[in-house]
Amino acid sequence: MEQIYTIPVNEAFEKCAIEGGCPFCTLEKQLEDNEIELILGASMMEPDVRRKTNEMGFCRNHFKIMFSAGKKLPLALILESHLKEVGDSLSKPGLMPAISGASTAKKLSNVSDSCYVCSRIEYNFTRMVDTAAYLWETDEDFRRKCKKQEGFCIPHAAEYLTAAKARMKGKVFAEFYGKIYDVQSKHMEGISEKLSRFVKSFDYRYANVPIDDARDAVEKTIELICGEYPKR
Ligand SMILES: [Zn+2]
Ligand SMILES: [Zn+2]
Repeated sequence: MEQIYTIPVNEAFEKCAIEGGCPFCTLEKQLEDNEIELILGASMMEPDVRRKTNEMGFCRNHFKIMFSAGKKLPLALILESHLKEVGDSLSKPGLMPAISGASTAKKLSNVSDSCYVCSRIEYNFTRMVDTAAYLWETDEDFRRKCKKQEGFCIPHAAEYLTAAKARMKGKVFAEFYGKIYDVQSKHMEGISEKLSRFVKSFDYRYANVPIDDARDAVEKTIELICGEYPKR
């Protein structure tokens, strides 16, 4: 397994074992920050990257993040050539406007469905999830880190289980699933308990029950269900 993945995966699991939070969300956020920094900096003028950004463009979420990064000139240059390429892809009506219109619709819809940053994140993130499964199989120390996790968000728990199922033999997977189940079910019960306490805090009959750490129960529940930061 390549070191470019084992090092960050180990570090994220180490950090979240201490601070809590989903280690895969941490990794995904790092990948995103890294891609945004590269695209508005070092790789912006690279012909190969520019060819891809011209073709794929970006999703609304990543445009927003790039816009708020405050580097308007690199962003304007990226937009200028992207918009030109999209403009060039419009088919002239010609003799068969029904066909050229349909072809234009298809091309435009491909552009609006694709995002260079999302595709880069997905490429690396899939390998990181697979690395986390590989490390669990081969590294005793990583298993310990895994056991100490607070839990995973639901989409990432699903991805981790799927990646592990694809690479592990039956007996190993059974052991892996047992451990992940313990971590994840405890995590979900904890959040669910917090949420009930939050709801009760609006009920005068529970006026004496302290709300304590349940103040952020709604945010924590949404994070559990959707991941810790908004994607796409
Ligand atoms: Zn997550
Ligand atoms: Zn995107």
